[in-house]
Amino acid sequence: MATLQRPAAPIRTVSNSSFAESFDIARRKLDKELDGNISSPDSRPGSPASLATGSTVTPAELSTPLTPFNAAIDADPDVADEFAFAFDIDGVLIRGGKVIPEAIEAMKVLNGENEYGVKVPYIFLTNGGGKTEAERCGDLSRQLELEVSPGQFICGHTPMREMADRYKTVLVVGGEGEKCRHVAEGYGFTDVITPGDILKANAAVSPFRKLTDTEHANSKDLLSRGQLSDIVIDAVFVFADSREWASDLQIMLDIAMSKGGRLETRSETFDESPPFYFSHNDTLWAAQHEHPRLGMGALRSIVETTFESVTGGKKLETHAFGKPQVSTFEFATRLLQKWRAAQHGLESSKPPETVYFVGDTPESDIRGTNAMNEASDNDWFSILVKTGVYQDGTEPAYKPRQTVETVLDAVNFGIRREMEARKARSAGPDEKAVIEKLLPLDAAAQPTTTA
Ligand SMILES: [Mg+2]
Repeated sequence: MATLQRPAAPIRTVSNSSFAESFDIARRKLDKELDGNISSPDSRPGSPASLATGSTVTPAELSTPLTPFNAAIDADPDVADEFAFAFDIDGVLIRGGKVIPEAIEAMKVLNGENEYGVKVPYIFLTNGGGKTEAERCGDLSRQLELEVSPGQFICGHTPMREMADRYKTVLVVGGEGEKCRHVAEGYGFTDVITPGDILKANAAVSPFRKLTDTEHANSKDLLSRGQLSDIVIDAVFVFADSREWASDLQIMLDIAMSKGGRLETRSETFDESPPFYFSHNDTLWAAQHEHPRLGMGALRSIVETTFESVTGGKKLETHAFGKPQVSTFEFATRLLQKWRAAQHGLESSKPPETVYFVGDTPESDIRGTNAMNEASDNDWFSILVKTGVYQDGTEPAYKPRQTVETVLDAVNFGIRREMEARKARSAGPDEKAVIEKLLPLDAAAQPTTTA
């Protein structure tokens, strides 16, 4: 029997104009960097509004330079220029650190091992993080048995890079050991403090959390600067999933309740918190366990809810990057075009007519793709797989245009759909004929019409 999945928390509407401003700055900078040596004929001044007005920021793969774009490359005649794929990673290609077997085959199919001999451009768009983009691409390359370039990769915390010159002293939360501190420093943040640094200075901050010897050794000595109360946190960034929810929550709340971010202080009004940024808002993600595990979105909810209860009803406004924000998909569109030009010699001014987005989480992947489709001139086609968060037999909170078992089925479906469209088009210029050809195909592969 179909059970309802819990709907996602609403995408917040934020009235914070300073955030909107910083979002615009970040976006302009990212676009500029992304353009590299190539002009940006596709940047549309009237590009569609984001799904949320405030809690959106656009990511790019930029901590390592984008793959050098070679505008002079000749177009490969076997490469499809009318469509492309974009993939979520966890629950689609990888699960619990291991590759989903069909993913390797799916990549081969995209690279031309299919009955049509067509090669299809593709990019990766994940909310995950916790490592540098280059490191993550290295992992993915080994797992998928093909080279994944940072020029085709966007992850959850990438946009935080653009805030490095805006905030001096920042608290960076999440990830393994010191990794996220290093990612943040690689992004250009000059004074990165972690919860470990604070615990090293004052173990009483979190009564039940004891730093290991390694953690103690790796943590900065904040007391060498004077008192903890001499330090002001300008912003809090949750880069990756917390490994120590209780102590991280305590430290984040202390900062949210402080006088303007000054450590060890308490605001009298609880309305002077520094800004909080989360690299995404996924409540659940697909790990090794048979049921989805709690993710950063859950921590975000807990921070907000607990703040409200300990301050007698004050609200803490936090922001999240990543999917399902439309701006993230808009950025992915531009990345995809640059990638198509660089890798395949396809004309960068012409976006693909259809982008198939393959994901496992209705609340971020499908919701975002469908919203992007509404906002965009080209067709963003959502495909839900059953290898991750979405559980077969349940009703997804956001409806995909197609549901399939695995990423391989998704790739085969998209390619077949496109080749049918090509055939119909070459038979005559009648668009109606093309649509008629596609309709039964879409309907045939639509098993999730769980009413
Ligand atoms: Mg996923």
